[in-house]
Amino acid sequence: MNDPLVVSVQVPAPPERVWRAWTSAGAWSRWWWPHCLDTGYVVDARPGGFYRAWSAGPGVGVHGTFTEVEEPRRLGMTWFWEGEVVDPPREHVVVELAPEGASTLVTVTHEVATQEAADDYREGWTFVLGNLAAYLGGDGGGGEVTEEDLVHLRRCVALAAQAVEAGDEPFGSVLVGGGGEVLHEDHNHVAGGDRTQHPELAIARWAAEHLSPDERAAATVYTSGEHCPMCAAAHGWVGLGRIVYATSSAQLGDWLRELGAPAGPVAPLPITAVVPGVVADGPVPELADEVRALHARLHRKG
Ligand SMILES: [Zn+2]
Repeated sequence: MNDPLVVSVQVPAPPERVWRAWTSAGAWSRWWWPHCLDTGYVVDARPGGFYRAWSAGPGVGVHGTFTEVEEPRRLGMTWFWEGEVVDPPREHVVVELAPEGASTLVTVTHEVATQEAADDYREGWTFVLGNLAAYLGGDGGGGEVTEEDLVHLRRCVALAAQAVEAGDEPFGSVLVGGGGEVLHEDHNHVAGGDRTQHPELAIARWAAEHLSPDERAAATVYTSGEHCPMCAAAHGWVGLGRIVYATSSAQLGDWLRELGAPAGPVAPLPITAVVPGVVADGPVPELADEVRALHARLHRKG
């Protein structure tokens, strides 16, 4: 048995914010390997849930499953390098968050397979945790959803409510230009039978027709529910900018199961797994109940 590797860093944010940074794919994309823009992330932070950070260019990645999820204190996971086949897993990582005044002490304990690898791992974790501290301590960015973001997200939820009212599925989206102006908004129109009529796809098409590439890159897409892979791909192809979503595809999957509603025919991949270079912030916990209620309203009708 090797000695586990232990690396700690003080992060200038309370444990709740650090927890969010560790448990959302959108947040991982901002701090894990932000220098590799082709990296895709999947983070399903539930016991038994899968995670993966995969950088296609250099062909490097890690993945595993979450073994412990104790919000907002402790996260345990198995650790495999991409392409590695070992059973049972030889490496485990435990992340502990301890409040220290207004900040958090983040301690990573990595049970390594070989002692020789420990030095490389120490360097790797020091780099990644440094990114985390910079991300959460940065210039008001830090993946935080601002008051202005919330105004647009609330409009998305109102559009989703209108959609249910009209007999459609509750999804609403707003496109906001680089100067903060609302450019376009829409909600789902799938009730007519065309199930590709999602608002995020409509926005991508509208943007391709009406905005220059620079204007598209500077624009932000707000949406009540995280983009599905079809809409994420359209967003990526037309070169739109940041995405802010109120609720995640993983949450939607849970809600549909609870409501006894069928899952969609398309895999609920996170946006960053489809468009690795995009900045995606969400979910926003304070809007979850409202969005869940809209889905409950739709599925309890029939
Ligand atoms: Zn979609």
